[in-house]
Amino acid sequence: MHLAIIGAGPRGMVTLERLIAWQRAEHSNTPLTIDLYDPHGIGGRVWTPKQPHELIMNTAAQQISLFYGTSVNSTGPIITGPNIFEWAQTEAHDFIEKNNYSADFLTEIAHLNPNDYATRALFGIYIQWYYAELIKHTPKNVNINVNKVTVTQISKNANHFEIMTALPSTDTVDYVVMSLGNLENELSKDQQKFDSFATENNLTYVLPGFPNETELDHITQDDTVILRGLGLSFFDIVTRLTIERGGRFKQLDNGQLTYLATGKEPHIVAGSRRGWPYHAKGDNQKAPGEESQAHFLTAAKMAVFMKNGSVPFAEFWNLLSHEVEYHYYSLLVAEKYPEIELTKFQLAFLRQPEETVKRSIIAESDRFNWDHLGNPMTKKPNADFKTIMLEHLQNDAADARMGTKTGPLTSALEVLRDLRLPVRQLVDNRLLSDDEYLTDFLGWFNSLNNFLTIGPPSIRIEQLRALVDADVITMLEPGMIVDTKNHQFETYSANAPEQRYLATTLIEARVPAVHATTATSPLMKQLLETRIANPLVLNPTKGAPVIDGAVNVDPISNLLLDENKRPQPGLYFWGVPTDGVHWLTAASPRPFVNDVSLRTANDIVKDIFEKESNKK
Ligand SMILES: Cc1cc2nc3c(=O)[nH]c(=O)nc-3n(C[C@H](O)[C@H](O)[C@H](O)COP(=O)(O)OP(=O)(O)OC[C@H]3O[C@@H](n4cnc5c(N)ncnc54)[C@H](O)[C@@H]3O)c2cc1C
Repeated sequence: MHLAIIGAGPRGMVTLERLIAWQRAEHSNTPLTIDLYDPHGIGGRVWTPKQPHELIMNTAAQQISLFYGTSVNSTGPIITGPNIFEWAQTEAHDFIEKNNYSADFLTEIAHLNPNDYATRALFGIYIQWYYAELIKHTPKNVNINVNKVTVTQISKNANHFEIMTALPSTDTVDYVVMSLGNLENELSKDQQKFDSFATENNLTYVLPGFPNETELDHITQDDTVILRGLGLSFFDIVTRLTIERGGRFKQLDNGQLTYLATGKEPHIVAGSRRGWPYHAKGDNQKAPGEESQAHFLTAAKMAVFMKNGSVPFAEFWNLLSHEVEYHYYSLLVAEKYPEIELTKFQLAFLRQPEETVKRSIIAESDRFNWDHLGNPMTKKPNADFKTIMLEHLQNDAADARMGTKTGPLTSALEVLRDLRLPVRQLVDNRLLSDDEYLTDFLGWFNSLNNFLTIGPPSIRIEQLRALVDADVITMLEPGMIVDTKNHQFETYSANAPEQRYLATTLIEARVPAVHATTATSPLMKQLLETRIANPLVLNPTKGAPVIDGAVNVDPISNLLLDENKRPQPGLYFWGVPTDGVHWLTAASPRPFVNDVSLRTANDIVKDIFEKESNKK
């Protein structure tokens, strides 16, 4: 059997691991040749060890592992192994030394705690070690070729597939598994306008991309840089323009950080439509595999929705939001309202959530408020924005520091992370109407969820507070607008148009959106042109069909669907470019939580071996 794995990021690597594990355990008489393709080599583009050491992951070290483990809810050979933290304690030192990686990594592993955030480069080295371990245990009749090239075309030829790259030869394989990650897109009209303007005026315009690759060296202390977007890429670019240039933070007696500038920092003006940076990730207090249990959005409830084949979004959200609020009030009451009998309160909340809170003595200011969480400005409409932002960042970091088991707000938001499975079931099983999926889910919930749950470590929020305080960064009020004026870029907030900033650089601080039909990848283009891949199309009751950014796959088998929505045997496609058919695909595997990526890799490989056995 001959297979192609396209993409050597975490998904490609766990697919490789599963192939070897299944072959060894159940199909040792089947000789296997695996061709792995990725121009960035093992670990892929996001996790290359050759990236600034200042860029850190946003997942705690003990919550990242590529090993299959026992928690995965699918039959497959169990092969356990260390998470990044455990690896740093054991195998990492020798591997780093033997392979001549920088001594910075030895310092890093010596200080890495289970709930610290490893550098992205260190995860890259972990993946390389993982690959080296796989090779060590690969049976003799399994042959692995790593091709550091981009695949440009795939064509179907009877029961085989031809894989084309820039190399003169073509590989013929029986199965293809693709996990391509984020792909750059063609420029939108707005982007074309800024791009041409930058060229004409000798300015810098940076498109959505990979923050580790962004060229920033030519930006000087005399420049003003606009950062559009306040998500994870924003924090990366800020880190690169400050800490990477030698800037340091000092802790003051009051616990806050102050920024010690180098004088090499440009002035950064940052904003977004929402206008608030992503919430800090809570400091982890949970052991691997420890997750909140559902009281409202239970497995039984989800089973009913799946049996019915649908659920109104309002009903789903009602259950999910009550789940979050239940955790919040349970911890808040225990901490701040000793006069309330907790068990009685919890029982009453489970029966009548809103009424129970309304009837309680919990102060209005302590009540859970989704609107305020989504837009912290609503509380103080007349205060100076810098003061509001500083206070917001301080509170956000303080909440995060209270931890994922003891901080009322942080633990409550962590529930959104723990209950990703029901949300995935909602999306995978298409339980919402296309109208609700477009407006309520993609148009509202998804962005709120990203804002509240996939943010940076709390240290990044504390650093941002110090940088805003030091006026290295000016934060715009919500409603950011970017334009051009007097041969420069101009930005301001629609809420405060009198305060405007001119800049020499405009950076779109976000990773490329998932949008197959505009992707510049030659492979993606060819797959769409030949209808081997097709975009997901949504059909709202009013208006024209909507082409979603996702590539359409069968949500169970992850086989590419043809234009008649029929699965195409042998062509598996999964991960980030399917976001829309699946949900929240931009994450690396988490150990002990029946992880969706580990499960999917196993299911794909199981399917491949079943198909192969049926051929005989
Ligand atoms: C900047 C950044 C930071 C992130 N930080 C975190 C984090 O801290 N924690 C976390 O859990 N997740 C993080 N993520 C999310 C990330 O998507 C996942 O963690 C994970 O990398 C996804 O794995 P993947 O294998 O699906 O995709 P990727 O890791 O993106 O790998 C895809 C690979 O496919 C290759 N490829 C694409 N097209 C072709 C082709 N035609 N031929 C050959 N190869 C091809 C690419 O070169 C790439 O290496 C981050 C993502 C980005 C972009």
